[in-house]
Amino acid sequence: MKKPNFDLEKARRDTPGCENVIHFNNAGAALMPQPVLEAVLSHLKLEASIGGYEAALQSKRAIDHVYDASGSLIGCSRDEIAIVENATRAWDMAFYSIPFNPGDRILTSMAEYASNYIAFLQRARKTDVTIDIIPNDDSSQISVEALRSMVDEKVKLIAITHVPTNGGLVNPANEVGKISQEIDALYLLDACQSIGQMGIDVNTIGCDILSATGRKYLRGPRGTGFLYVRRRRIRELEPPFLDLHAAKWTAHDRYEIRSDARRFENWETNVAGKIGLGVAIDYAMQWGLDSIWERIRYLAESLRSRLSDIPGIMGRDLGTLKCGIVTFTVDGKDPFDIQRALLEKNINVSVSKLESTRLDMESRHLKSLIRASVHYYNSEDEIERFCETLASSA
Ligand SMILES: *Cc1c(COP(=O)(O)O)cnc(C)c1O
Repeated sequence: MKKPNFDLEKARRDTPGCENVIHFNNAGAALMPQPVLEAVLSHLKLEASIGGYEAALQSKRAIDHVYDASGSLIGCSRDEIAIVENATRAWDMAFYSIPFNPGDRILTSMAEYASNYIAFLQRARKTDVTIDIIPNDDSSQISVEALRSMVDEKVKLIAITHVPTNGGLVNPANEVGKISQEIDALYLLDACQSIGQMGIDVNTIGCDILSATGRKYLRGPRGTGFLYVRRRRIRELEPPFLDLHAAKWTAHDRYEIRSDARRFENWETNVAGKIGLGVAIDYAMQWGLDSIWERIRYLAESLRSRLSDIPGIMGRDLGTLKCGIVTFTVDGKDPFDIQRALLEKNINVSVSKLESTRLDMESRHLKSLIRASVHYYNSEDEIERFCETLASSA
């Protein structure tokens, strides 16, 4: 892959953490850029100096803006967005709203995230629904052909993970969308790891519901996330919890649920975080998701290629199109020991465990993996130093 043009100097200048660490844990929580940090801190200071409600009133535009920013990021309108505290709660609020009937089928992927799968299991136990796993193709991404042969009128929901927590795989979300539209099933996409990493357009993908987090590739504050629900689907999804924000108490014995996606929100929220999320989205869009994606793929590819030269290291990424999450194992070494050794050198990676993506990990006989996830602000020099440190400790 050709080295893309990218203003790395600016990216690093904007990222205070670059001075302290080699941060290859962007799939865990990326380093916040300065504008996000400033937005969050200044709102907290305002709360402390004039009062929380009064600060919210003064920051109303910035708070409102996060809906427009999220909408522009994924190509939907602001009333199709709910801002919540994380991707899991976003996903849950939509999933637990789906009116399943006994006999309905849920189709999901091998790469599915534990929290999602646990929810399927709970649902399957309570209502008699079945969970069917779409097999992978030869490149270990969702087999679109297999999916096509599996669908019937019993399929209520297709819920898949776009990019799994444990590797570079990018599932063919658009192709899945075409099939879900043909059978008019609900299509729920977990875009937690793809958001902020690549361009996402809900109309191109064809999903009805999408969940996203703030702290990963979007570089937002922790404890932020959002949910997208396609307008025509909102009314059929009644949230499992309602409060005075999600619904209005209209008479002694009556309430009315909001008609927009904010029915999936709750009233009290981390306002500074919400503002920070909006700023993080604006900041990502200033770079442009296409150039972010190009730069990330270039870095990840360089890292994969450098790692393949180190004896004893086994690359573990699946799929045809690979993203910024680079996973590997080291012969005879426990991934947690490697992680600890790297941390001592101020190099951040994380370890993905079997329990986070059990279907996939079991099928590959893996207990854990080292996950080095790169972002556009990482440098070629960091990749070099990372590999040298690894080679000397491996
Ligand atoms: C991190 C992650 C989640 C959970 O996101 P939270 O914001 O922690 O709730 C869900 N799905 C995938 C694929 C993830 O990587």
